[in-house]
Amino acid sequence: MSYPNVQLHVNGEWRAARSGKTINVLNPATEEVIGTVAHAEKADLDEALAAADKGFAVWKKVPAFERYKLMRKAAEIFRSRADATARLMTLEQGKPLPEAKMEVMAAADIIDWFAEEGRRAYGRVIPARGEGIYQLVIKEPVGPVAAFTPWNFPINQVVRKLCGAVTTGCSIIVKAPEETPASPAELIRAFVDAGLPPGVVGLVYGVPAEISEYLIAHPVIRKVTFTGSTPVGKLLAGLAGQHMKRVTMELGGHAPAIVFDDADLDLAAKTLAGAKFRNAGQVCVSPTRFLVQEKHYDGFVEKFVQYAKGVKVGDGLAEGTTMGPLAHDRRVPWIETLVQDAQSKGAKVHTGGKRLGNKGYFYEPTVMTDVPLTARAMSEEPFGPMAMISRFKDFDEVVTEANRLPYGLAAYAFTRSAKTANAIASQVESGMMTINHLGLALPEVPFGGVKDSGYGSEGGSEAIEAYLNTKFVSQAGL
Ligand code: NAD
Repeated sequence: MSYPNVQLHVNGEWRAARSGKTINVLNPATEEVIGTVAHAEKADLDEALAAADKGFAVWKKVPAFERYKLMRKAAEIFRSRADATARLMTLEQGKPLPEAKMEVMAAADIIDWFAEEGRRAYGRVIPARGEGIYQLVIKEPVGPVAAFTPWNFPINQVVRKLCGAVTTGCSIIVKAPEETPASPAELIRAFVDAGLPPGVVGLVYGVPAEISEYLIAHPVIRKVTFTGSTPVGKLLAGLAGQHMKRVTMELGGHAPAIVFDDADLDLAAKTLAGAKFRNAGQVCVSPTRFLVQEKHYDGFVEKFVQYAKGVKVGDGLAEGTTMGPLAHDRRVPWIETLVQDAQSKGAKVHTGGKRLGNKGYFYEPTVMTDVPLTARAMSEEPFGPMAMISRFKDFDEVVTEANRLPYGLAAYAFTRSAKTANAIASQVESGMMTINHLGLALPEVPFGGVKDSGYGSEGGSEAIEAYLNTKFVSQAGL
């Protein structure tokens, strides 16, 4: 199957941009142009906004049960196309094909879960102070949503936003990533083919800043949801604030991964190294600062380095590849900058530390120790395949280090002590904490950060709440 020229989806129609403009899409493993994506401008956005307005008027009146049935159908359609969609994702994003397939199948599960959860968007009745008075709390869809999603999980980043909107009766315009446009388009196609009315979902691509400035300020849009970097998130949240729009922000992280002396060392090293190099480290919840207590430090470094050396880097379509290239041309220079900066400040590189080959955005799985806190990588999000391992003495020291940064997305800990587990879970400032295993990101559990990592949740019942307004109605019988 070849790679398509990806179109916009506006008012129920798949079409080119009105201007006819397109943007090239590259395969990050080869740097070759594999296709194009339509480049939306103001005329396209105006049509998408008008359609979202009309689509909302239609969709909010559709009973939750009917919305549920349509979403379940979309999930089935999407599953049935998993192989083809995963291949598109690997071509445009670079991740190994089995990981792409897993992302597609997980997205179908997410659709099913949100479909069900939308049937439970309960309000409540509050006991009244007077006879014959009914005090009702009613949940209503917030309105047309503008969603901005990145290229690291081209489908997963869209599906939670799309489902939160569709299951609650909102309409949504998705500004999907220009780097990886085809696989999210397949997600939208599954909903369209399942019978979603025109205008309920729009799909656009273009210049991210132009689109976000226009959509967020527009009166039709009532909610903004963004996944991406903290600086961009702050910009968009500021704009949304000026126009009093509801906001969900899933931003950057710099996750501490804490291994205590009483941890299962093998389990900790294998689990954390696997998590580090998944998707070439381009994961917002990727473990980044590995903080290991003294007894396990040497063993952890040895096992982690051994794991990193065993990672098979290559084209995601090739059999046996366990880590693909970085997703686009801006990523390699950034990782090079961080590694060189750390080395110049005394860091020791145990493995990796270099670009791989001269074609494709490949970077070696990299493990460093002795990285001083002054190194940029210890404070700025690498978003790539590099791990920094440090040693700590006691509980208080590691809590201070874990909480040193303004980020607060995910945190990891390994310990055999329930007391230590409880204490670390309560003292680390993060939106999510997973202990002795990887337990994040299932559809039924909250997913979100604190501090500079953003606010709001894209999982669990909180994810539905984000797309609902609360209306209070007090009614006295005559
Ligand atoms: P970037 O900051 O330019 O872009 C990040 C994402 O935001 C991209 O999808 C981009 O299209 C979008 N974006 C940028 N400016 C925008 C604007 N004004 N309006 C709307 N969308 C906008 O950087 P990048 O090189 O693409 O990614 C690097 C950084 O982005 C990473 O270091 C990481 O912090 C962050 N990121 C986070 C996630 C996540 O899952 N939280 C995903 C991808 C990227």
